[in-house]
Amino acid sequence: MMAATRLEGRPLALRIREEVKQRAAVLRARGIAPKCVAIVVDGDGPGLLYAQTARRIGADAGVNIEIVPIGASADTSGALAIVLRIVDEPTVHGLIIQRPLPAKLDEQRIVEAIDPAKDVDGAHPYNQGLLALGKPQFVPSTASAVLEILSLPPTPPLRGARVAVVGRSAVVGRPAAALLTAADATVTVCHSRTKDLAAITFASDIVVLAVGKPGFLTGDMVAPGAIVVDVGTTVVDGRLVGDADPISVSAVAGALTPVPGGVGPITTSILLRNIVSAAEALNQS
Ligand code: NAP
Repeated sequence: MMAATRLEGRPLALRIREEVKQRAAVLRARGIAPKCVAIVVDGDGPGLLYAQTARRIGADAGVNIEIVPIGASADTSGALAIVLRIVDEPTVHGLIIQRPLPAKLDEQRIVEAIDPAKDVDGAHPYNQGLLALGKPQFVPSTASAVLEILSLPPTPPLRGARVAVVGRSAVVGRPAAALLTAADATVTVCHSRTKDLAAITFASDIVVLAVGKPGFLTGDMVAPGAIVVDVGTTVVDGRLVGDADPISVSAVAGALTPVPGGVGPITTSILLRNIVSAAEALNQS
């Protein structure tokens, strides 16, 4: 029985970080310190952890990430005031808002307050629209990370490949499907109402999982040799686990991304790359 290749994200993440470091150094030599503000609502543990990780890695690459908390009692107008103040600061090149926001906040209005030129996580409808048109500018980092990891062998060329994307959120599933379509893959987007989902995944050359349900994909749902990208991250008994059952899927698939260590590290590096790109574009001479 052949075990699937582990599609490790860390080496790719380090290569992207090295590129970020060089581009950040060029900006700094011009007196421009690339900077992003991450807005995190008090009590959002995973959001804060992601922002803190990005801040630590960013510091090493020459990119400043400042975490600005929003009090748990804030209302939409209070949160909007914070976003509008930050977005106008010329020294800030990127702005991310950790989502999902609490239900009492109008997430759409708050996200629309981001300047699309500083929307380094591709959340604004303008950037989502460009992506839907196949002309991506800023794209949610996790979706970009899926495409990056699919550049690794033994992944087949995306052109003409049959890809099942399970999950249709604005943060992962939808943008990943749009990027894959732009790369000439033939994409089927699956969700909680999809019928015969296992038949769709089984008929696919590549399966992208963005569900958030541990053990969702089992080996019998995967064609021999297929590539499985597991975006899912759920904490179970203090451990991070993905959406694929690693043992049964590894026995059948040609390759599988590990959780942790697959898509996650690339996501952070891509966020840093987007911040540097925004700083460059905003300071074109
Ligand atoms: P989400 O907003 O909860 O979306 C989950 C998607 O899964 C929805 O589209 C939902 O369908 C679908 N789904 C749920 N149950 C299903 C079922 N039984 N069959 C088929 N589809 C089903 O989650 P998300 O924000 O996209 O995140 C997905 C996962 O990725 C989570 O584990 C999250 O922690 C992880 N994540 C990882 C990274 C990273 O860098 N590695 C970044 C972001 C997120 P409906 O639309 O019909 O409800």
